[in-house]
Amino acid sequence: MKLPKTTRKYCKYCKNYTTQKIAEVKGKERGALKHGSIQRARKRGRGQGFGNKGKWGSKPPISKFKRTGAKVSKKTNLKYICQTCKKTTVQNKGFRTKRLVIEQ
Ligand SMILES: [Zn+2]
Repeated sequence: MKLPKTTRKYCKYCKNYTTQKIAEVKGKERGALKHGSIQRARKRGRGQGFGNKGKWGSKPPISKFKRTGAKVSKKTNLKYICQTCKKTTVQNKGFRTKRLVIEQ
């Protein structure tokens, strides 16, 4: 999917519609932890309590075999940088796309 480099969007800091730059958030996937990371966090005393708290749940070990019918698309994780106040907001809900291209 192609996205424009800038867009006009509401800025909650300026309280107005401003021109905002679109950029992808680089780094690890949102809310996803590997099995080893969860085990290590447990030892260090994090992720304790009732429920999985969004990301600290137990997971089965990763299978060698690829399951059929798995999704090929990934959810987007975008950030918007306001050109007036230079503050950054992240999108609250990603949408699925196979390939994301931000046009120059
Ligand atoms: Zn702003």
